Amino acid sequence: MSTTEAATHLRENPYALARAQLQRVADTFGVDPNLVAVLSECKKTVEVSVPVAMDDGTTKVFEGYRVVHNVTRGPAKGGIRYHPGVTRDEVKALAMWMTWKCALMGLPFGGAKGAVVCDPKVLAPDELERLTRRYTTEIINEIGPEKDIPAPDVGTNAQVMAWIFDTYSMNVGHSVLGVVTGKPLAIGGSVGRDGATARGVLYCIRTALQKEGRRFPDTRLAIQGFGNVGRNLARLLSEEGARVIALSDTRGAVVNQYGIDVQAAIAHKSEHGALEGLPGTEEATNEELIELECDVLVPAALEQAITADNAPRVKAHMICEAANGATTPGGDEILEDRGVLVLPDVVANAGGVVVSYFEWVQGLQEYFWKEYEVNAKLNDIVVRAFEETWSARERFGTSMRMAAYGLAVQRVAEATVTRGLYP
Ligand code: NAD
Repeated sequence: MSTTEAATHLRENPYALARAQLQRVADTFGVDPNLVAVLSECKKTVEVSVPVAMDDGTTKVFEGYRVVHNVTRGPAKGGIRYHPGVTRDEVKALAMWMTWKCALMGLPFGGAKGAVVCDPKVLAPDELERLTRRYTTEIINEIGPEKDIPAPDVGTNAQVMAWIFDTYSMNVGHSVLGVVTGKPLAIGGSVGRDGATARGVLYCIRTALQKEGRRFPDTRLAIQGFGNVGRNLARLLSEEGARVIALSDTRGAVVNQYGIDVQAAIAHKSEHGALEGLPGTEEATNEELIELECDVLVPAALEQAITADNAPRVKAHMICEAANGATTPGGDEILEDRGVLVLPDVVANAGGVVVSYFEWVQGLQEYFWKEYEVNAKLNDIVVRAFEETWSARERFGTSMRMAAYGLAVQRVAEATVTRGLYP
């Protein structure tokens, strides 16, 4: 199979992609094949059907999943995605990536992910609530503060987490703050959680720029995706004086080489539901955004935005993967050969799970921190993980991705060997 064919094959199956990445790490770092066999599999995959009474009087049945990849280092942690195209294998891949991310950040968690195959944009709010409460009920024996702790992902938000928290709490008979993170502040959320992933991305880009003797005010960035991560990142970057030259959503991209007024973009998106037509910008496609002349490219939408097909035309010298699995292995190989610095998802977008960890800790202790404490502790953890990855990259003469995965897999492997195989 050629690289392009392999990339095309892998594009169809994110789980194959995640396993191929693990195998490559194992080959590079000499991980015991017995351990690789264990780590290649997800510990538990639960598939549920979620019947929902729709507003038009019909009953619609949705497909739902909760996958736990690994719990060797602690309870499982991972978001819940609502998307019409989500598949079981995508959820398994995302669960595996969560295991590596938590290990790399030094959090006492394993990896998990959940999903419901639905389009939240076309569901009425009360349909979304019924769907969430029924999905929670279907997986209620799987989740819990000591077992598996969900959080928001694509298509879900703090309100969805509030419904999960309430459904779980009603079933056990008391409020269980630690069952879910990313909750609204009014019911035990953490300050700083909403913008935490974007903030982590910001800290990574800043640290990488510092290594090159550069600063935000001399940097042009293009961001794909304008949801929780993309929107918050654009805002934080503009506050740092960086030039955000392109933004996009599902409808397409808007570009201004001199810098987009991010506040105006946020207002335009909330008024019109899309970035399209933002005054002072030219329109482009999402594909064109990836190939735009800029310093730093930030994919912050869905997986596999950068492939063997478009990687040769990427002009940015740095890519920061805010989205999980943003680059395929084929694309990665090409970027590596071309000397493009890729800050991989496991480091770049870990801010969300780090502050989720803070929220879980605060919930268990019922003692809440101030925002400056959250941001300072987040900075400590993300920058420490970045520096550890940077040194491993230099020590092993490899990419940031291989170094990050290498460190993470070795940590999970060490915990597995130390605990031993039961029975
Ligand atoms: P979101 O649902 O809030 O936003 C997604 C954005 O991507 C939307 O603006 C949507 O219009 C856009 N989009 C969707 N498909 C697109 C396409 N094909 N081309 C261009 N834009 C497209 O999701 P989010 O929470 O911002 O998550 C974005 C990415 O970041 C995902 O890969 C997610 O797994 C990852 N991530 C999110 C968090 C978090 O805390 N929210 C944490 C870690 C990783």
